[in-house]
Amino acid sequence: MDRLSPDAFLSRLLAHDTFCLTCHIRPDGDAIGSELGLAGWLRKLGKTVTVLNSDPAPDNLAWLPGHDTIRVWEGSIADREAIVNAQAFVILDVNNRDRIGELAETSKGARGETFVIDHHTDPETWFDGAFIDDRASSTCELVYRLIAAHDASAIDADIAQPIYTGLVTDTGSFRFSSVTPDVHRVAADLLERGDLSPDPIHDALYSTRRLAAIRFLARVLDTLTMAHGGQIAHLTIRTRLMQELEVSSDEAEGFVNYALSVEGVKAAVLFLENSKGVKMSFRSRGDVHVNKWAQHFKGGGHRNASGAFVPGKMEVVRKRVISSAPRFLDLDPERLEADAHGAITGSNADLLHAMKARMSG
Ligand code: 5GP
Ligand code: MN
Repeated sequence: MDRLSPDAFLSRLLAHDTFCLTCHIRPDGDAIGSELGLAGWLRKLGKTVTVLNSDPAPDNLAWLPGHDTIRVWEGSIADREAIVNAQAFVILDVNNRDRIGELAETSKGARGETFVIDHHTDPETWFDGAFIDDRASSTCELVYRLIAAHDASAIDADIAQPIYTGLVTDTGSFRFSSVTPDVHRVAADLLERGDLSPDPIHDALYSTRRLAAIRFLARVLDTLTMAHGGQIAHLTIRTRLMQELEVSSDEAEGFVNYALSVEGVKAAVLFLENSKGVKMSFRSRGDVHVNKWAQHFKGGGHRNASGAFVPGKMEVVRKRVISSAPRFLDLDPERLEADAHGAITGSNADLLHAMKARMSG
């Protein structure tokens, strides 16, 4: 696999005329944004582009220009041909075959060149060309850098909106440690070139939760549990709760950040039950890196945001994961010690109370 500079990557990519783009399963703003931004630009250059995903985009992205051009995999001959016959097969915001879902098998027979544009750690190596930077805030930032290396004046509203969206969603609205002055410069340039105001975009992304989803949040916050002397916080979502409230797991997006926001917490985990096992979302702050912890359970991701899936029962999986934390994270031994002696102050109820007070204050 060749890891390429923007210019070298572009000269390989733009040698082609027909493209098939895809992203990871259960796509988020960065996955959809990077696909639509790149697709919009390639089409502007006269290329033929198919965007084909394993899963549909979430509802809060339906307003994005080009959203209606995204195809969801049905396993048809046309789907297979789109992958196999494309001169360039490009995967975005993902770096392994497993996570492109239903397209994985067919992608092994892709006859064109294969490309990856991504910011996750530990990429697979089957690609002909790679534009990878695991320090980038988002895949959208990388797509912006590619376009800017060619000719930034091509960025219009239809290209700027999806790319800006990915920047917002993958940085927690410009809060995470991946945010640098350069990321703000990219955002500023997108706003200018697209003549966009941030306000309606943020509203479309975040002020569209159903009432049921807020009640869901309240019930999930009630499961908040502290471990390892208050250095780890975790939340649990049972399938029966989702059935009772008639909500989907997509509506739990962002819940884990409440656990991470508790004072003194270094890493947080959301345990989400399904019929086969438990999906975990790991989050951490600053120099505490959760990707090795997630990899131990066959998952992966970024230093401060990773995920994994472990088959089995909630109680068993949760205990295994939480008890393994000190092996993968740099936890404060004195606080571990205090916990072992039962000296931790404040019950979970107290913490929850304090957090709710802080949120409403
Ligand atoms: P989330 O917790 O939002 O599902 O995922 C956080 C990050 O971890 C995402 O960037 C995602 O790519 C990565 N991730 C989530 N689940 C998995 C998984 O099962 N395997 C791998 N390799 N990465 C995952
Ligand atoms: Mn991303």
